[in-house]
Amino acid sequence: MKKDAGGKTEGSPGPQALKTAPRAGELACEAAFRDMLAAALPVSVRVFFTANRRQLVSVARQRDGSLTVRLQHAFRAADAETFGALVRFLRRPDASSKAQLAAFAESRSGLFEALSDPPRKPRPASAPRTRGRFRDLALVLKKVLSDHGLAVPGLAISWSAAPGNGESPSRGGSAGRRSIRFGSYCAGRKLIRIHPLLDSPDFPAYFTEYVVYHEVLHALYPPKANGARRSVHTPEFRARERMFIRYDEAREFEKRWRLAFFGGPLRCGGRNRQSV
Ligand SMILES: [Zn+2]
Repeated sequence: MKKDAGGKTEGSPGPQALKTAPRAGELACEAAFRDMLAAALPVSVRVFFTANRRQLVSVARQRDGSLTVRLQHAFRAADAETFGALVRFLRRPDASSKAQLAAFAESRSGLFEALSDPPRKPRPASAPRTRGRFRDLALVLKKVLSDHGLAVPGLAISWSAAPGNGESPSRGGSAGRRSIRFGSYCAGRKLIRIHPLLDSPDFPAYFTEYVVYHEVLHALYPPKANGARRSVHTPEFRARERMFIRYDEAREFEKRWRLAFFGGPLRCGGRNRQSV
């Protein structure tokens, strides 16, 4: 953020915007607030109001330079100073604008609360199911940890829910791109979930162990920030993964299986998914 000789901060809202900024306590109507932002910003802006609880403001710069802004409704009650900070934030987020917006959110926490979606009820944590028809995941996990000299206190494992309720193999996406996630790791619950497809003699024991091993490594190697992205399978992760005792066989089996099942090589899991 540049400052000119007079100390005026670049990006401050113009006088017109300041004049129309709502007084503290009032909630500007959506259209008026959009107009104010449009007048205060040098590029075109699309504003969506949200009832988010956590993400109060976000801004994405589009290829054509325009901005797409998502703003919690409570910002419509911004006083002139906060509005100025918002404009600066949208032009170029910096520590001072962030701090000012955070201070506003703090001082008007009741309003933010009132304009937020009701908190999501945490899903009742179903007890991990380890026993399948062919495999007991508790035993698989124990073997994997012991074979590789690993210890992860508190780590739990479960078959994931049966297909059809959202945790099933994903065959969606764009045409011709299908995928399946054999395993996932939930850091919050320290829980490995394994796809029930693996509860079958069609999959050799070492392959299931490989999938479990991979997910154990997610517990041991948390994702790392890599610029704006999160690196889930870091080089250290991959190096450790190759230490799986039957790594080559497992990879080969997976390749052959995917080829037979999907008829071609595929992507597996999303970019940010911790998946095999
Ligand atoms: Zn993974």
